[in-house]
Parts: sequence; structure tokens; C-alpha cells
Amino acid sequence: MKAIVLDLKEGNPIVEMRDMPVPKIAPDEVLIKVAAVSICGTDCSIYKYTPAMQKRIKKFPHILGHEFAGYIKAIGRNIVKWKIGDYVSAETHIYCGKCPTCEREDKNLCPNLKLLGVDRDGCFAEYIAVPEKVLIRNDISLPPYLASIQEPLGNAVYCVNKAEVRHKDILIIGDGPAALFTAVVAVISKAKSITMLGYNDYRLQIAEKIGVSSINCVKKRVDFMDEFIGKKDGGWFDVVFEMTGSESGINTAINVCRPGGKIMVFGLSENNSVFVPYNKIALKGIMAQGIYGRNIWKTWEIAVFFLNHYRNSVEPIITHKLPFNEWQRGFDLMIKSRDCGKVVLLM
Ligand SMILES: [Zn+2]
Ligand SMILES: [Zn+2]
Repeated sequence: MKAIVLDLKEGNPIVEMRDMPVPKIAPDEVLIKVAAVSICGTDCSIYKYTPAMQKRIKKFPHILGHEFAGYIKAIGRNIVKWKIGDYVSAETHIYCGKCPTCEREDKNLCPNLKLLGVDRDGCFAEYIAVPEKVLIRNDISLPPYLASIQEPLGNAVYCVNKAEVRHKDILIIGDGPAALFTAVVAVISKAKSITMLGYNDYRLQIAEKIGVSSINCVKKRVDFMDEFIGKKDGGWFDVVFEMTGSESGINTAINVCRPGGKIMVFGLSENNSVFVPYNKIALKGIMAQGIYGRNIWKTWEIAVFFLNHYRNSVEPIITHKLPFNEWQRGFDLMIKSRDCGKVVLLM
């Protein structure tokens, strides 16, 4: 089968499309014929083989990808709930289901977590093997390209719900697909005002289209911080969504969050750690809320509801639907020009 893999050639990382064997399934797994996938920031980190991914990825060649929709092609011998032909997607966070964290229904935070497409082979391939416990049946009204974005949209749904944005002034730092999904969910959830701080004009135009009240390009607006600091007791926003994981992003978040406000810690640093003005978090009484994955399965249900009822609001974020063979163009869009929203590859 055709697959997009990360491999090491004389110690140097390469990503290429390659012929790989169709995965074998364990008794509690299903084999899925992939219909559509979408490219995530995590895939870009694997593509770039960042320091965090160098520590994480242990087996080569490694098949990328975790956001997908497809049809069950074969079932393991212990499977009773699913049959061949079922239309499915999967939760990326493969939890253990046995530890105290899983028992508390925080499965997405399970300390024994294995990530699809990171800790095991992913979906940028004609077939993927997936454990039954992370399978979800897709609503037949969602075409595969839309069903493939339930996972990242779910991330945004989970984040915005935890932030409680209704009637609040919010700032989103970052302009990538996750930031755009967060913006659209915040619009639907009736935030009072939504400001976005980004870098890419193409992406900020999408933000404008989906209802972000104020867009600010850091290339042109280095004065952004001066404008906001000093108003309303030294901070402007009730909730700041930090989507970049960059040092400047996190510093800005702490500076412009109002005293007693909330920072949603969503973006991950490529180096695992960054310097932050730690004391300010205490002195401003800021609540920092980490966001990782989605609630399994409550968030998925809400994401499906959004896709069914607000499909027209979400569609502008999916800017590219490319054939699988054009995967390289997809990564170039995401990593180099960044003139894209969500990029979907169709099999
Ligand atoms: Zn993802
Ligand atoms: Zn667990």
C-alpha cells in the first residue's frame, strides 16, 4: 500500500511516499480503508523531525497521520460491535482504560497514552490498523473530508468549552487551523469579542470571514502589546488562547490576560520547554488551563453537532482538498507558505 513515512537515511530524516505492507491487525483491532485524512500541526512536527519528535519516535519507517475517516475492511477475532463496511473515524489518544486517570473519565490524559500516528503507525496510508476502543461511528451525513476534521475540531470544542467564553473578551494567539477552529467555535459559543493575533494574511482573512471581530498581523502590528497593556487594570482579555507554544506567544498571553483571567495552554513547544514570567501568573491571579486532546466521547458528540448545524461556518477553514498523491504540496502549504487553512488529502 502507498504510505507517507518518516525514515532516517544515514541519520538524516526524510519523509517520502513509499510502498509499505498492509498492517496486520491484533484480535481487538480493525483494519480501515482510509478515505480522507487531514494534516495536523503534529504531522508537521514529525515532518520537521523536531527535537520533541526526535525523543518520541522510536521506530522507523514511521507512517504519519492521525486525523481520518474511512471504512472498515477487516475485523480482529475479538470484535463484535463492528462490521466490514462501517464508516468510522478514531480518537487519536489511545488510552489504557485501566488506570485511575481513565477511571476518572480523563482518558485523554491517561499517563499510559499512545498516540495514533506518533507512538504507532498512522493514517497517511491506504490502510490503518486501529484498536476498537478508540473507534467512533461516523454520521453518514458527513462526507469523509468533513469527518476527517472531527478530531481537530474536537480539540477546539474541548478548549472553548473549558474556557467558558460566553459574553467574554477573548484573544487567540496564533492563526493556524487549530486557532481558526477555536475562533469559529468561540463565535458559535457567543464570545463577546474575539481578537486574533497572527502572522499570515491568508489565514487572518479566513478568521475575518468566520466572524473574528479584530485581526492583528504581528508583522505589521508590533505595537499590539502597547495598545492593550494598561487598559482595564493592566490586562485586556478575559480569556487568552495560546495556540503557538512559542516563547513570545506565551509571554504575550501572560501580559495581556486580565487579572483573574484565564489562559488556555494549547500550543506545544517544539523544544518541550520555554521561559515564562512565572511570578506574573501568581501576581495577576491567572488561571492556566492545559488542553490536550478531547473528552472521550462527549467532545466528539458536540463536534458532530457543530458540523451538522454550523457546517457553513466551518467550511471556509478547509481551504484545500488535494489528492493523496499531492501530499508534498499539502506539507509545503502547511510548513512553508502557510497560505492555507486545514489541508485535507483525499484517497
Ligand atoms: Zn491533530
Ligand atoms: Zn489510563
